[in-house]
Amino acid sequence: MTSSTASLDLAAYIRDIPDFPQPGINFKDISPLLKSPEAFRACIDRLVEHYASLDIDYIVGIESRGFLVGAPLAYHMNKGFIPIRKPGKLPYKVERIDYTLEYGSGSLEIHADALGEGHRILVVDDLLATGGTVAATRALIERLGGNVVAAGFVVELEFLHGRDRLSGLDIHALLKY
Ligand code: AMP
Repeated sequence: MTSSTASLDLAAYIRDIPDFPQPGINFKDISPLLKSPEAFRACIDRLVEHYASLDIDYIVGIESRGFLVGAPLAYHMNKGFIPIRKPGKLPYKVERIDYTLEYGSGSLEIHADALGEGHRILVVDDLLATGGTVAATRALIERLGGNVVAAGFVVELEFLHGRDRLSGLDIHALLKY
């Protein structure tokens, strides 16, 4: 990491959008971070540094903002990247999970041959809120025989206690609110 990016305040690049996508939700928009070459670089560099000694086989990114963070992280860690997608997007045979969200429900899919028995996985998304999305992702990965060892985020909303649903995982977030 260069000295200029080491001191950069990432929080200054996260924009709050009140009442999006629905009343009562304070949306943490990472668009300004992605748009800034210095902030985007600092974000990925800091995650690369944190996970430098982590023993994993693949990085799994959750659609869609998880791709924006997970793919460059995989590139820099020299690991393969596996996408988790919303239903109907993946072209080959899929494994699917339906899960309950804070408001409503959701479904996620992974290619059935994406990973196998004993593979060690780092899950990446932009933000950890209630933990439901990552818990569902973990269940999907475990169905294929994989082992989720860690989960990484740009932002964690600590007041929603998402960590409590992800016991046994090494959880890391660059920014906490
Ligand atoms: P959860 O399953 O509750 O942990 O929610 C995490 C997923 O929903 C992530 O994919 C986030 O991108 C998205 N998300 C939830 N809450 C917010 C928020 N306040 N701001 C931005 N994204 C959010």
